[in-house]
Amino acid sequence: MIKPSTQQIMKQIKSPAGILTALLLLLLAGSLLAILLPPKAPEGTERRIVVLQDGVKLYDIPYTESMHAQSLRIEAPGGGYNVLRIDSGGIRITEADCPDQVCVHAGLVRSEGLPIICLPHRLTVLIQGPEDGLDAVTY
Ligand SMILES: [Zn+2]
Repeated sequence: MIKPSTQQIMKQIKSPAGILTALLLLLLAGSLLAILLPPKAPEGTERRIVVLQDGVKLYDIPYTESMHAQSLRIEAPGGGYNVLRIDSGGIRITEADCPDQVCVHAGLVRSEGLPIICLPHRLTVLIQGPEDGLDAVTY
């Protein structure tokens, strides 16, 4: 009388255990796959072109190497303008009517954290990396 019931219990244990083993194997295979095939990391690649006027963000443009060249005319609130040229090689102010022309003479900027500043127009243009905060930008 005991034997059949033990066998029944054994059967009941055996089948969930089999499922568990299968699940464990699947998990193991899954984690192995995750180790062997790490997901492509999109972080660290996204850069942005940020244009600030008087400390206010005017433009925040995703910057990619394959980006088409374009010019952006930025009007200063008190009159005047800057022309920002963006292409895959970097950013630069090509034209401005400010008296000192410092922004134009800043030339090409292709790396992060080196802003082009036009003081008379209170304009800052920079390439921003993924980790950079705007707090770092001051006149
Ligand atoms: Zn300037």
